[in-house]
Amino acid sequence: MNNKKGRLIVIAAPSGTGKGTILDYMKQQRPEINTSISVTTRQPRVDELHGVSYYFVSRERFLEMIEDDEFLEYAEYIGEYYGTPKKPIYDLVEAGQDVILEIEVQGAKQILSLDYDILAILIVPPDMEELERRLRGRGTDTQQQLTARLERAKEELAQSSLFTHIVVNDDYIRAAMEIMDILDA
Ligand code: 5GP
Repeated sequence: MNNKKGRLIVIAAPSGTGKGTILDYMKQQRPEINTSISVTTRQPRVDELHGVSYYFVSRERFLEMIEDDEFLEYAEYIGEYYGTPKKPIYDLVEAGQDVILEIEVQGAKQILSLDYDILAILIVPPDMEELERRLRGRGTDTQQQLTARLERAKEELAQSSLFTHIVVNDDYIRAAMEIMDILDA
């Protein structure tokens, strides 16, 4: 029997860095990649489906899940909660499968303190001007949310030393290939 456990692959990136596009490309190239589906209290965007992008829950339900110790990690991000459910991750890792967690930096810090085999990758924008341009272009945030996301991005980039690998998203295909190389190394 193979008792080798899988790895937790934390991929963090300031909001607007293009992490979603990179991960979509990686999943196309490698359909076998497991990604965790997070739970959040934020409202779904138009193209987001419950159980695919996130599990969208009420604040009450989220607090209940915290109380019941159902999260591997969770964090508050611009007034909303986001968390990684423990059970599906545990099952995959115990079965020897790697799992990718797409989370922000507070949550990444919590994962780094766990007793798992962990790879921590931070995707960064080429520079802050480009990040602001991408966030504005997305057009999903109010001015207040945009300012909060940019502030948070600066704080997150200041913590880059926590990560084992830093990947610059100058081109999403190149960045995705670099991450796949890191996973294979
Ligand atoms: P968004 O609202 O843009 O979907 O996500 C906001 C931030 O929350 C992103 O940085 C995203 O990676 C992060 N995030 C998504 N799911 C989780 C999670 O389960 N835990 C934590 N800590 N962050 C998450």
